[in-house]
Amino acid sequence: MVGQNRRVDLKDADTAIRQARADIDFLSVLPAQAAQAVLKTYHRAWRNCWDGRVKKPVFKSRIRSTMSVDVPQGRNLNVVRVHRRWGMVNVPKVGRVRFRWTRDLPVGKYANAENRITGARLVKDALGWHIAFRVQALESAPGSHRGAEVGIDVGVTIPLALSDGNHQDHGRLTKTESGKADRDKWLDSKEKAKLLRLERQAAQRKQHCEPGQSVSRRLHHTYDQIRGLRARATRRHQDWQHKTTTALAQQYAIVVVEQLTITNMTRSAKGTVAEPGRNVAQKAGLNRAISQEAWGQTVTMLAYKLAQRGGTLVKVPAPGTSQRCSECGFTTPGSRMSQATFVCKKTGCGFTANADWNAARNVLHLYRIGLVAVPAAGRAVVRRVRRVKPATAR
Ligand SMILES: [Zn+2]
Repeated sequence: MVGQNRRVDLKDADTAIRQARADIDFLSVLPAQAAQAVLKTYHRAWRNCWDGRVKKPVFKSRIRSTMSVDVPQGRNLNVVRVHRRWGMVNVPKVGRVRFRWTRDLPVGKYANAENRITGARLVKDALGWHIAFRVQALESAPGSHRGAEVGIDVGVTIPLALSDGNHQDHGRLTKTESGKADRDKWLDSKEKAKLLRLERQAAQRKQHCEPGQSVSRRLHHTYDQIRGLRARATRRHQDWQHKTTTALAQQYAIVVVEQLTITNMTRSAKGTVAEPGRNVAQKAGLNRAISQEAWGQTVTMLAYKLAQRGGTLVKVPAPGTSQRCSECGFTTPGSRMSQATFVCKKTGCGFTANADWNAARNVLHLYRIGLVAVPAAGRAVVRRVRRVKPATAR
Protein backbone atom coordinates (compact mmCIF):
# COMPACT_ATOMS: atom_id res chain seq x y z
CA MET A 1 0.00 0.00 0.00
CA VAL A 2 0.96 3.59 -0.51
CA GLY A 3 2.29 5.56 2.44
CA GLN A 4 0.15 8.38 3.78
CA ASN A 5 2.41 11.26 2.87
CA ARG A 6 3.56 10.07 -0.50
CA ARG A 7 1.98 11.43 -3.62
CA VAL A 8 0.44 8.69 -5.69
CA ASP A 9 1.91 8.46 -9.15
CA LEU A 10 0.15 7.18 -12.20
CA LYS A 11 1.76 3.76 -11.93
CA ASP A 12 0.39 3.12 -8.42
CA ALA A 13 -3.02 4.26 -9.49
CA ASP A 14 -2.87 2.02 -12.54
CA THR A 15 -2.03 -0.99 -10.39
CA ALA A 16 -4.92 -0.12 -8.08
CA ILE A 17 -7.38 0.17 -10.94
CA ARG A 18 -6.23 -3.15 -12.40
CA GLN A 19 -6.89 -4.76 -9.03
CA ALA A 20 -10.27 -3.05 -8.80
CA ARG A 21 -11.18 -4.28 -12.28
CA ALA A 22 -10.47 -7.80 -11.18
CA ASP A 23 -12.57 -7.42 -8.02
CA ILE A 24 -15.53 -5.27 -9.01
CA ASP A 25 -17.97 -6.44 -11.65
CA PHE A 26 -19.14 -3.16 -13.17
CA LEU A 27 -15.56 -1.95 -13.58
CA SER A 28 -14.53 -5.08 -15.45
CA VAL A 29 -17.29 -4.48 -17.97
CA LEU A 30 -15.89 -1.01 -18.72
CA PRO A 31 -13.28 -0.90 -21.50
CA ALA A 32 -9.78 -0.78 -19.97
CA GLN A 33 -8.88 2.32 -21.99
CA ALA A 34 -11.84 4.29 -20.66
CA ALA A 35 -10.89 3.56 -17.05
CA GLN A 36 -7.32 4.59 -17.76
CA ALA A 37 -8.42 7.77 -19.48
CA VAL A 38 -10.46 8.77 -16.43
CA LEU A 39 -7.51 7.95 -14.21
CA LYS A 40 -5.18 10.03 -16.34
CA THR A 41 -7.49 13.04 -16.20
CA TYR A 42 -7.87 12.66 -12.45
CA HIS A 43 -4.13 12.40 -12.00
CA ARG A 44 -3.55 15.47 -14.15
CA ALA A 45 -6.02 17.38 -11.95
CA TRP A 46 -3.93 16.51 -8.87
CA ARG A 47 -0.70 17.34 -10.69
CA ASN A 48 -2.08 20.78 -11.51
CA CYS A 49 -3.06 21.21 -7.87
CA TRP A 50 0.37 20.17 -6.54
CA ASP A 51 2.06 22.52 -8.96
CA GLY A 52 -0.06 25.35 -7.59
CA ARG A 53 -1.98 26.09 -10.78
CA VAL A 54 -5.44 25.21 -9.55
CA LYS A 55 -7.37 24.20 -6.44
CA LYS A 56 -7.93 20.62 -5.33
CA PRO A 57 -10.14 18.56 -7.62
CA VAL A 58 -13.67 18.20 -6.31
CA PHE A 59 -16.57 15.96 -7.15
CA LYS A 60 -18.49 16.82 -10.28
CA SER A 61 -21.83 18.53 -9.89
CA ARG A 62 -24.62 16.38 -11.23
CA ILE A 63 -26.40 19.44 -12.57
CA ARG A 64 -23.68 21.71 -13.87
CA SER A 65 -21.13 19.35 -15.33
CA THR A 66 -21.48 17.95 -18.81
CA MET A 67 -21.28 14.24 -19.25
CA SER A 68 -18.39 13.11 -21.40
CA VAL A 69 -16.68 9.83 -22.22
CA ASP A 70 -13.21 9.69 -23.65
CA VAL A 71 -12.05 7.29 -26.31
CA PRO A 72 -8.28 7.57 -25.90
CA GLN A 73 -7.22 5.81 -29.09
CA GLY A 74 -8.26 6.38 -32.66
CA ARG A 75 -7.25 2.98 -33.97
CA ASN A 76 -10.54 1.16 -33.58
CA LEU A 77 -12.84 4.06 -34.33
CA ASN A 78 -12.93 3.13 -38.01
CA VAL A 79 -14.40 6.43 -39.19
CA VAL A 80 -16.00 6.27 -42.63
CA ARG A 81 -17.77 8.95 -44.61
CA VAL A 82 -20.97 7.48 -45.94
CA HIS A 83 -22.65 10.57 -47.33
CA ARG A 84 -21.89 14.24 -47.86
CA ARG A 85 -23.43 14.98 -44.49
CA TRP A 86 -23.05 11.76 -42.55
CA GLY A 87 -20.25 9.60 -41.22
CA MET A 88 -20.08 6.34 -39.28
CA VAL A 89 -17.91 5.57 -36.30
CA ASN A 90 -17.31 2.63 -33.96
CA VAL A 91 -18.10 3.64 -30.40
CA PRO A 92 -16.78 1.15 -27.83
CA LYS A 93 -19.56 -0.80 -26.08
CA VAL A 94 -22.17 0.83 -28.36
CA GLY A 95 -21.19 -0.25 -31.85
CA ARG A 96 -21.58 1.43 -35.20
CA VAL A 97 -23.00 4.95 -34.83
CA ARG A 98 -23.93 7.54 -37.42
CA PHE A 99 -22.83 11.11 -36.90
CA ARG A 100 -23.22 14.41 -38.65
CA TRP A 101 -20.17 15.24 -40.77
CA THR A 102 -19.40 18.89 -40.03
CA ARG A 103 -15.65 19.20 -40.60
CA ASP A 104 -12.98 17.67 -42.76
CA LEU A 105 -11.43 14.64 -41.09
CA PRO A 106 -8.34 12.72 -42.22
CA VAL A 107 -9.94 9.40 -43.12
CA GLY A 108 -9.58 6.93 -45.97
CA LYS A 109 -7.10 8.12 -48.57
CA TYR A 110 -6.44 11.34 -46.64
CA ALA A 111 -5.17 9.47 -43.58
CA ASN A 112 -1.44 8.82 -43.19
CA ALA A 113 1.22 8.77 -40.47
CA GLU A 114 1.14 12.56 -40.07
CA ASN A 115 -2.55 13.22 -40.56
CA ARG A 116 -4.83 10.95 -38.62
CA ILE A 117 -7.50 10.70 -35.95
CA THR A 118 -5.87 10.01 -32.58
CA GLY A 119 -8.94 9.73 -30.38
CA ALA A 120 -12.40 11.03 -29.67
CA ARG A 121 -14.61 12.31 -26.93
CA LEU A 122 -18.33 11.78 -26.56
CA VAL A 123 -20.09 14.71 -24.96
CA LYS A 124 -23.71 14.95 -23.93
CA ASP A 125 -25.59 18.22 -23.73
CA ALA A 126 -29.28 19.02 -23.63
CA LEU A 127 -29.56 18.56 -27.40
CA GLY A 128 -28.05 15.08 -27.44
CA TRP A 129 -24.75 13.29 -27.82
CA HIS A 130 -21.89 14.76 -29.82
CA ILE A 131 -18.60 13.29 -30.87
CA ALA A 132 -15.44 15.37 -31.05
CA PHE A 133 -12.40 13.89 -32.76
CA ARG A 134 -8.85 14.55 -31.75
CA VAL A 135 -6.89 15.00 -34.93
CA GLN A 136 -3.18 15.11 -35.58
CA ALA A 137 -2.44 17.15 -38.66
CA LEU A 138 0.71 18.47 -40.25
CA GLU A 139 0.44 22.19 -40.77
CA SER A 140 2.90 24.49 -42.43
CA ALA A 141 4.40 27.08 -40.09
CA PRO A 142 2.59 30.40 -40.37
CA GLY A 143 4.38 33.20 -42.15
CA SER A 144 4.52 36.70 -40.76
CA HIS A 145 1.10 38.32 -40.48
CA ARG A 146 0.75 41.50 -42.48
CA GLY A 147 -2.32 42.78 -40.67
CA ALA A 148 -2.59 45.89 -38.53
CA GLU A 149 -2.75 46.11 -34.74
CA VAL A 150 -6.04 46.64 -32.96
CA GLY A 151 -7.37 47.09 -29.43
CA ILE A 152 -10.57 45.29 -28.46
CA ASP A 153 -12.85 46.03 -25.55
CA VAL A 154 -15.65 43.76 -24.44
CA GLY A 155 -18.51 46.18 -24.72
CA VAL A 156 -21.78 46.72 -22.97
CA THR A 157 -23.48 48.39 -25.92
CA ILE A 158 -21.31 46.82 -28.62
CA PRO A 159 -20.42 43.14 -28.15
CA LEU A 160 -16.85 43.68 -29.32
CA ALA A 161 -15.64 47.26 -29.73
CA LEU A 162 -12.55 47.71 -31.90
CA SER A 163 -10.18 50.65 -31.67
CA ASP A 164 -10.33 51.28 -35.41
CA GLY A 165 -14.13 51.43 -35.36
CA ASN A 166 -14.62 48.05 -37.05
CA HIS A 167 -16.98 46.94 -34.28
CA GLN A 168 -18.24 43.37 -34.21
CA ASP A 169 -21.95 43.17 -33.61
CA HIS A 170 -24.22 40.15 -33.52
CA GLY A 171 -27.45 41.98 -34.23
CA ARG A 172 -28.94 40.87 -30.94
CA LEU A 173 -30.35 43.17 -28.32
CA THR A 174 -27.74 44.69 -26.06
CA LYS A 175 -28.11 46.32 -22.68
CA THR A 176 -29.07 49.85 -23.62
CA GLU A 177 -31.54 48.91 -26.32
CA SER A 178 -33.56 46.52 -24.24
CA GLY A 179 -33.15 48.40 -20.97
CA LYS A 180 -31.54 45.46 -19.24
CA ALA A 181 -29.10 42.72 -20.05
CA ASP A 182 -31.06 40.24 -22.06
CA ARG A 183 -30.29 36.76 -20.89
CA ASP A 184 -31.91 35.01 -23.81
CA LYS A 185 -30.90 37.27 -26.65
CA TRP A 186 -29.83 34.34 -28.79
CA LEU A 187 -33.40 33.10 -29.00
CA ASP A 188 -35.96 34.57 -31.37
CA SER A 189 -39.24 35.96 -30.09
CA LYS A 190 -41.12 32.71 -30.64
CA GLU A 191 -38.54 30.72 -28.73
CA LYS A 192 -38.46 33.32 -25.99
CA ALA A 193 -42.22 33.06 -25.57
CA LYS A 194 -41.89 29.29 -25.40
CA LEU A 195 -39.17 29.55 -22.80
CA LEU A 196 -41.28 31.86 -20.67
CA ARG A 197 -44.23 29.49 -20.92
CA LEU A 198 -42.07 26.52 -19.96
CA GLU A 199 -40.56 28.35 -17.02
CA ARG A 200 -44.00 29.25 -15.73
CA GLN A 201 -45.10 25.67 -16.21
CA ALA A 202 -42.11 24.39 -14.30
CA ALA A 203 -42.72 26.83 -11.46
CA GLN A 204 -46.36 25.78 -11.29
CA ARG A 205 -45.57 22.08 -11.31
CA LYS A 206 -42.92 22.59 -8.69
CA GLN A 207 -45.56 24.02 -6.37
CA HIS A 208 -47.43 20.75 -6.52
CA CYS A 209 -44.36 18.76 -5.58
CA GLU A 210 -44.46 17.40 -2.07
CA PRO A 211 -41.27 18.18 -0.17
CA GLY A 212 -38.96 15.17 -0.15
CA GLN A 213 -40.75 13.56 -3.06
CA SER A 214 -38.96 12.93 -6.31
CA VAL A 215 -39.67 15.27 -9.22
CA SER A 216 -42.55 14.16 -11.44
CA ARG A 217 -41.93 12.92 -14.95
CA ARG A 218 -43.84 15.83 -16.44
CA LEU A 219 -41.69 18.32 -14.55
CA HIS A 220 -38.57 16.49 -15.66
CA HIS A 221 -39.77 16.78 -19.22
CA THR A 222 -40.34 20.51 -18.83
CA TYR A 223 -36.86 20.94 -17.36
CA ASP A 224 -35.41 19.06 -20.34
CA GLN A 225 -37.21 21.34 -22.77
CA ILE A 226 -35.89 24.42 -20.97
CA ARG A 227 -32.38 23.01 -21.06
CA GLY A 228 -32.79 22.27 -24.76
CA LEU A 229 -33.70 25.88 -25.55
CA ARG A 230 -30.80 27.17 -23.50
CA ALA A 231 -28.41 24.79 -25.27
CA ARG A 232 -29.66 26.08 -28.62
CA ALA A 233 -28.94 29.65 -27.51
CA THR A 234 -25.46 28.65 -26.35
CA ARG A 235 -24.77 27.01 -29.66
CA ARG A 236 -25.79 30.08 -31.62
CA HIS A 237 -23.55 32.21 -29.44
CA GLN A 238 -20.59 29.90 -29.96
CA ASP A 239 -21.18 29.94 -33.68
CA TRP A 240 -20.98 33.74 -33.66
CA GLN A 241 -17.89 33.65 -31.46
CA HIS A 242 -16.07 31.28 -33.79
CA LYS A 243 -16.93 33.18 -36.95
CA THR A 244 -16.03 36.55 -35.42
CA THR A 245 -12.73 35.44 -33.90
CA THR A 246 -11.69 33.75 -37.16
CA ALA A 247 -12.41 36.92 -39.10
CA LEU A 248 -10.46 39.02 -36.59
CA ALA A 249 -7.49 36.65 -36.60
CA GLN A 250 -7.39 36.82 -40.38
CA GLN A 251 -7.54 40.59 -40.49
CA TYR A 252 -5.24 41.66 -37.66
CA ALA A 253 -1.68 40.70 -36.76
CA ILE A 254 -1.71 42.02 -33.21
CA VAL A 255 -4.83 42.00 -31.10
CA VAL A 256 -4.70 43.78 -27.75
CA VAL A 257 -7.26 42.95 -25.07
CA GLU A 258 -7.87 43.86 -21.48
CA GLN A 259 -6.69 41.52 -18.77
CA LEU A 260 -10.07 41.10 -17.12
CA THR A 261 -10.63 39.10 -13.98
CA ILE A 262 -14.19 38.14 -14.66
CA THR A 263 -14.64 35.90 -11.64
CA ASN A 264 -13.62 38.72 -9.32
CA MET A 265 -16.04 41.13 -10.95
CA THR A 266 -18.90 38.70 -10.74
CA ARG A 267 -18.20 37.98 -7.11
CA SER A 268 -17.80 41.59 -6.04
CA ALA A 269 -21.29 42.66 -7.05
CA LYS A 270 -23.23 41.23 -4.15
CA GLY A 271 -20.44 41.64 -1.64
CA THR A 272 -20.47 39.83 1.67
CA VAL A 273 -22.73 40.22 4.70
CA ALA A 274 -20.06 42.23 6.48
CA GLU A 275 -19.27 44.31 3.42
CA PRO A 276 -22.19 44.58 1.03
CA GLY A 277 -21.33 45.56 -2.53
CA ARG A 278 -22.18 48.99 -3.85
CA ASN A 279 -24.42 49.58 -6.86
CA VAL A 280 -25.48 45.95 -6.65
CA ALA A 281 -28.21 46.05 -9.28
CA GLN A 282 -26.16 48.06 -11.75
CA LYS A 283 -23.08 45.91 -11.32
CA ALA A 284 -25.11 42.76 -11.49
CA GLY A 285 -26.45 43.86 -14.88
CA LEU A 286 -22.96 44.55 -16.14
CA ASN A 287 -21.68 41.28 -14.73
CA ARG A 288 -24.41 39.36 -16.39
CA ALA A 289 -23.66 41.02 -19.68
CA ILE A 290 -19.96 40.26 -19.35
CA SER A 291 -20.46 36.68 -18.28
CA GLN A 292 -22.86 36.13 -21.10
CA GLU A 293 -20.56 37.47 -23.71
CA ALA A 294 -18.21 34.80 -22.41
CA TRP A 295 -15.27 37.06 -22.86
CA GLY A 296 -12.80 34.47 -21.61
CA GLN A 297 -13.79 32.05 -24.34
CA THR A 298 -13.47 34.71 -26.99
CA VAL A 299 -9.95 35.52 -25.82
CA THR A 300 -8.96 31.85 -25.82
CA MET A 301 -10.24 31.45 -29.36
CA LEU A 302 -8.46 34.60 -30.50
CA ALA A 303 -5.20 33.40 -28.94
CA TYR A 304 -5.03 30.11 -30.80
CA LYS A 305 -6.48 31.40 -34.04
CA LEU A 306 -3.97 34.24 -34.14
CA ALA A 307 -1.10 31.85 -33.37
CA GLN A 308 -2.15 29.64 -36.29
CA ARG A 309 -1.87 32.60 -38.63
CA GLY A 310 1.32 34.09 -37.25
CA GLY A 311 -0.42 36.82 -35.24
CA THR A 312 -0.17 37.63 -31.54
CA LEU A 313 -2.63 38.23 -28.74
CA VAL A 314 -1.49 40.77 -26.15
CA LYS A 315 -3.12 41.41 -22.78
CA VAL A 316 -2.88 44.76 -21.06
CA PRO A 317 -3.83 45.58 -17.44
CA ALA A 318 -7.42 46.75 -17.25
CA PRO A 319 -7.70 49.55 -14.66
CA GLY A 320 -8.60 52.94 -16.01
CA THR A 321 -9.31 52.05 -19.60
CA SER A 322 -12.93 53.07 -19.24
CA GLN A 323 -12.10 56.34 -17.46
CA ARG A 324 -9.28 57.66 -19.61
CA CYS A 325 -9.99 60.00 -22.48
CA SER A 326 -8.53 58.39 -25.57
CA GLU A 327 -8.24 61.76 -27.27
CA CYS A 328 -6.29 63.84 -24.72
CA GLY A 329 -5.21 61.22 -22.17
CA PHE A 330 -6.95 62.87 -19.22
CA THR A 331 -8.18 60.36 -16.62
CA THR A 332 -10.94 61.09 -14.16
CA PRO A 333 -13.25 58.72 -12.29
CA GLY A 334 -16.28 60.77 -13.32
CA SER A 335 -15.60 60.64 -17.02
CA ARG A 336 -17.62 57.58 -17.75
CA MET A 337 -21.04 59.20 -17.40
CA SER A 338 -23.08 56.15 -18.21
CA GLN A 339 -22.38 52.71 -19.57
CA ALA A 340 -22.99 53.96 -23.10
CA THR A 341 -21.28 57.32 -23.59
CA PHE A 342 -17.92 58.66 -22.59
CA VAL A 343 -17.62 62.40 -21.99
CA CYS A 344 -14.23 63.95 -21.28
CA LYS A 345 -14.22 66.28 -18.26
CA LYS A 346 -11.13 68.23 -19.22
CA THR A 347 -11.85 71.83 -20.21
CA GLY A 348 -11.12 72.46 -23.82
CA CYS A 349 -11.28 68.80 -24.83
CA GLY A 350 -14.94 67.89 -24.78
CA PHE A 351 -14.36 64.51 -26.39
CA THR A 352 -17.56 62.50 -26.54
CA ALA A 353 -17.73 58.98 -27.87
CA ASN A 354 -19.15 55.56 -27.41
CA ALA A 355 -17.71 54.35 -24.11
CA ASP A 356 -16.74 50.93 -25.47
CA TRP A 357 -14.93 52.42 -28.45
CA ASN A 358 -13.09 54.86 -26.16
CA ALA A 359 -11.97 51.94 -23.97
CA ALA A 360 -10.81 49.94 -26.99
CA ARG A 361 -8.65 52.88 -28.09
CA ASN A 362 -7.18 53.06 -24.58
CA VAL A 363 -6.41 49.34 -24.66
CA LEU A 364 -4.40 49.82 -27.83
CA HIS A 365 -2.70 52.86 -26.29
CA LEU A 366 -1.53 50.80 -23.29
CA TYR A 367 0.08 48.34 -25.66
CA ARG A 368 1.73 51.07 -27.69
CA ILE A 369 3.37 52.59 -24.61
CA GLY A 370 4.60 49.10 -23.73
CA LEU A 371 2.43 48.30 -20.72
CA VAL A 372 1.49 44.65 -21.05
CA ALA A 373 0.40 41.99 -18.58
CA VAL A 374 2.65 38.97 -18.38
CA PRO A 375 1.08 35.91 -16.82
CA ALA A 376 3.42 34.39 -14.23
CA ALA A 377 2.59 31.42 -11.98
CA GLY A 378 -1.15 31.80 -12.46
CA ARG A 379 -1.17 35.47 -11.50
CA ALA A 380 -0.99 38.46 -13.78
CA VAL A 381 2.10 40.55 -13.25
CA VAL A 382 2.31 43.90 -14.96
CA ARG A 383 5.64 44.53 -16.56
CA ARG A 384 6.90 47.35 -18.67
CA VAL A 385 8.55 46.12 -21.81
CA ARG A 386 10.59 47.74 -24.50
CA ARG A 387 8.68 50.38 -26.40
CA VAL A 388 7.16 48.87 -29.45
CA LYS A 389 6.39 52.08 -31.21
CA PRO A 390 6.51 55.72 -30.25
CA ALA A 391 3.32 56.56 -28.39
CA THR A 392 0.86 58.40 -30.55
CA ALA A 393 -1.65 60.97 -29.43
CA ARG A 394 -4.33 58.41 -28.68
ZN1 LIG B 1 -10.25 64.51 -23.34
